[in-house]
Amino acid sequence: MMEKYKNLHIGILALQGDYERHMHQLDLLYVRSKLIKLPEHLADIDGLIIPGGESTTMDKLIDRYDLRQSLTAFGKDKPIWGTCAGMIMLSENIANNQSQVKPLGLLDIDVDRTAYGRQVFSFEAELEAELNKKKYYLKASFIRAPKIRRMGANVKTLAVYNGDPVLVEEGHILSSSFHTELNSETTLLEYFLDNFFVAITKE
Ligand code: GLN
Repeated sequence: MMEKYKNLHIGILALQGDYERHMHQLDLLYVRSKLIKLPEHLADIDGLIIPGGESTTMDKLIDRYDLRQSLTAFGKDKPIWGTCAGMIMLSENIANNQSQVKPLGLLDIDVDRTAYGRQVFSFEAELEAELNKKKYYLKASFIRAPKIRRMGANVKTLAVYNGDPVLVEEGHILSSSFHTELNSETTLLEYFLDNFFVAITKE
């Protein structure tokens, strides 16, 4: 039993997409988790994961369940980790946005939703990431991943792939254009839990 995370309660946006794999990874670390489908579900969680999936669908469901304002308010000061479609939702602006997804504007980046092409161009890679000045290797799956086209001055790059930033953070927001929750390696999740909730995990 891991004592370190005993006071943490993490939500996973569960409207659509890959939320169950994130829940499984949180289970591996004995972190209490909760699926978020309605605004009131956000009330008692410390941080949120926005999973990969399909941002066009997620965008529609955010409005259908009246979550947009609550998510934006939550993300003003609470930690969020967005992966893949989650990165698209966190961004300021979206290129190639024919379906007019409305980003939440919580992370100062612009993304291109379809930069790597369709499903057949999905791939896996081992990424070198610098986390807390130490090198880690992450098994990353890029599945119809977005590319970051612009980064604000306060956004920090933690990993690159072929010269493009693919893992970034800005204050209490973390974002990866790839998936790490498909395998059982919890390195990136632990980085999120250990660094974005210091006040709670040190209690
Ligand atoms: N390309 C997808 C989108 O636009 C994201 C893919 C993913 O989350 N794996 O939402």
